[in-house]
Order: sequence, then structure tokens, then C-alpha cells
Amino acid sequence: MTRTRSAVVIGGGIGGLTAAAALHRSGLRVTVLERAPSLRPIGAAISLSPNALRALDVIGLGDEIRDLAAWQGDGGLRTPGGRWLSRSSAEAAAARFGGPLVLLHRSTLVERLAALLPPNAVRTAADATVADPGDRDRLARVRTPEGELEADLVVAADGIHSVVRRALFPDHPDPVYSGFTTWRLVIPVPGVAFASHETWGRGRIWGTHPLKDGRVYAYAAAVAPAAGHAADERAELLHRYGDWHDPIPAVLAAARPEDVLRHDVHHIAEPLPAYHRGRVALLGDAAHAMPPNLGQGGNQAVEDAIVLAHHNQDLAAYTAARLPRTTAIARKAVKVARLNLMRNRAGTAVRDATILALSKAGPALLLRGFDGIADWRPPQPPYASRRTQVGEHNER
Ligand SMILES: Cc1cc2nc3c(=O)[nH]c(=O)nc-3n(C[C@H](O)[C@H](O)[C@H](O)COP(=O)(O)OP(=O)(O)OC[C@H]3O[C@@H](n4cnc5c(N)ncnc54)[C@H](O)[C@@H]3O)c2cc1C
Repeated sequence: MTRTRSAVVIGGGIGGLTAAAALHRSGLRVTVLERAPSLRPIGAAISLSPNALRALDVIGLGDEIRDLAAWQGDGGLRTPGGRWLSRSSAEAAAARFGGPLVLLHRSTLVERLAALLPPNAVRTAADATVADPGDRDRLARVRTPEGELEADLVVAADGIHSVVRRALFPDHPDPVYSGFTTWRLVIPVPGVAFASHETWGRGRIWGTHPLKDGRVYAYAAAVAPAAGHAADERAELLHRYGDWHDPIPAVLAAARPEDVLRHDVHHIAEPLPAYHRGRVALLGDAAHAMPPNLGQGGNQAVEDAIVLAHHNQDLAAYTAARLPRTTAIARKAVKVARLNLMRNRAGTAVRDATILALSKAGPALLLRGFDGIADWRPPQPPYASRRTQVGEHNER
């Protein structure tokens, strides 16, 4: 009789839960160890592009997420005064990439992923690390507050400050401060109609997007010294963005100070030499944390998870499939962050004029930025996807 292979996943974020669901589907006995007391994710909404949705199709979740989410793409890029620099449509996005870009609350995604796991697969308040990465002849060992677990495969999905990454690659440089801080909020903004937008100023950006449940997701980023905090982050936002175009003042008027989350951004500037050691595979932010300016950190974590399940007995193949792609995307995210958080007056004028000219000449710049990213396909065939047309989705 063959023994059922086991996997221990350290970290119950989006990457860890997707990996757990995919490995469970591949027949492994899966345990997820999450340090926090519950699976409630920190953060607000998350945008998923067609690459991650196709990855979720492999575990049978793609269509459910397409149904629960708002389909993005109607809107575009603006200046703080309100001028449109580039416009796109959800239809154009879906046609270009063979499926929609969507936006949903993070907790919805985490709940749906956790629902794919067998009962008792997730242990919370379980701060874990790797005691021994194992090798071909020796199982890996994971240390938990309740003792050690052995596993055929360990997935380190413990986020940007990964203790497993430090244990496996002790000489590798720590993540660096990306030079800017972010604010996020999800709130109802009654009576305000608006088109989705991201607005680029000088050293500051703001985005406003509708969620399917009627609430609004807004985010902002600004060049700032690390570790700054305001006594009232809503007042801080009013000070920085209160004179920007509609609907930004209305969003700020509807927000309470406690609705606003603030986080500094860090990224891994130097790619790891590999995404595995022994029987341990790193994924998501633990492997390649990147600035959020392409909206790909979580999407790449989902791709990693699905590819890892495919190569779960050959981690060198997993590294070979994921390291070059995620390194290129992380580098692009750093470049995009520099472009949209540029501070120099002359530079931003040239930037805006170039975007305007490029967008008149061809498809919207926001969409072109996803070429080579959003068209990715998983190595294994999708489980099911029936929803690739925009239709009336957001009105239903
Ligand atoms: C402002 C902002 C906006 C963003 N927007 C987007 C977006 O729209 N789209 C997108 O794709 N990405 C976005 N990202 C990036 C995205 O949030 C991350 O890339 C994604 O959350 C990474 O998922 P993960 O599972 O690898 O790590 P995490 O989400 O960080 O999860 C790691 C988990 O591991 C747990 N953990 C840590 N250490 C241990 C331990 N020792 N033992 C057990 N558990 C542990 C943590 O508690 C956590 O639950 C954004 C990021 C920021 C900052």
C-alpha cells in the first residue's frame, strides 16, 4: 500500500491557502499553520488578473471568484485635477487577456480558499518554522508550539518577513524599504457615482474602485520616510489628497479615522538564488515580495501555489518555472512604482504627456502594462471556466 504524502504549509495567507487547496486536490494530506489567532487577512480589497483567475480555475474556484467580484477595467488614469490621461473598458481588458480583471475583498478570497480544505486542516495561533529542511532520504521537520511535525513537503508562505527564508538563506539581504507608504480603506460612499480611476500626481497616487457589494475600495500611496504615522490617518489623507478631483473628497468625507489602514511598502530587491531548499518550497511574498504598483504580489503567490502543486515532487522544476518570471515581474513593479510616484515637476509633465500620446495611439496604457503577465496559463488544464465575457456582470 502506498503511503499518503504529507505537506505542511507555514502561513495561511492567500499564497499558503491556495497552495494547501491545490496540494489537497493533488492527493496530499495537508496541514496549514497560521501564526495569527484567525485566518482574517490584514488589508482591504485585492485585484486579481486573468493569470491568477486561471490558476484558481485549476482548483475549481475561478468562476466562483469571478461571480463574487466586481469586474475591473472601466475607467482609467487621471491627473489630480481630474483630466483623463488614458481610458479603458472591462470589455477591452477581457478581450485582450481572455478573461476579466476583478476586484474583491481579501476576506472573501481567504474564506473561499479555506472552504476547499478538509476540516481541521488549518491550525491557527501556530507560529512555525523549519527545524530541518530534509532531503531526498529524510523528511523535513517543522517546529510548532505543540511540537514538531514531519512532512514530505513544506511550503513556506509566511510573507515578506519570512522566518523560513531567513533560516534557509541566512546570508540573503533582508527586504528593503520601497520609499513609500500606503493607505487603504473599504467603505460605503452613499450617493456618489464615479468611474474607476487611478490618479497620478507628484510623489502621490490615489485609486478609487467599486466593489460588487456596493462599497468602495480606495487606496493611496505617497513617497515618505519609513515608519511614519499620523495620529489621525484620515486627516493625513485629507491634507494630502483633499483638493484632488471627485470622488476623492467624497470618499474622504465618508471615511472615519479607524477605516484607514496604513502600511509602509518593502520589497525583496535581490532575487533569491532558488525558491527551494531540501523539501521546503518558498512562495508568494516570502519568495519575491514586490511593490504593489502592478497589483501582482498576490496574483503571483496564487500562480506559485498552482505551479508548486504541479511540481510537488520536483522542487528544482518549481524554482525553474517560477524564479525567472517572478523576478521579471518584481523588477517591473519597482519600475512602475518609480514612474507613478515620480516627484520631479518636469518629469511628471513628460510622463503625463507621454501617457496621453501613447493612449491615443493604441490600447490603454493600463492594459498594456499587463501584457506578458495577465496572459499566463497554468501548466495543468483548468478545472472549469465558463465566465470570460464581461456582459452585464457588474449590474447583476
Ligand atoms: C497596499 C497594498 C496593496 C496591494 N494590492 C494588491 C493587489 O491588488 N493585488 C495583488 O495581487 N497583490 C496586492 N498586494 C500584494 C499582496 O498583498 C501580497 O503579495 C500577498 O498578500 C502575499 O500573499 P502571501 O500569502 O505570500 O503572504 P501574506 O499575505 O503576507 O501571508 C503570510 C501569512 O503567514 C503568516 N505567518 C507569518 N509568519 C508565520 C509563522 N512563522 N508561522 C505561521 N504563520 C506565519 C502571516 O500571519 C500571514 O497570514 C498589495 C500589497 C499592498 C501593501
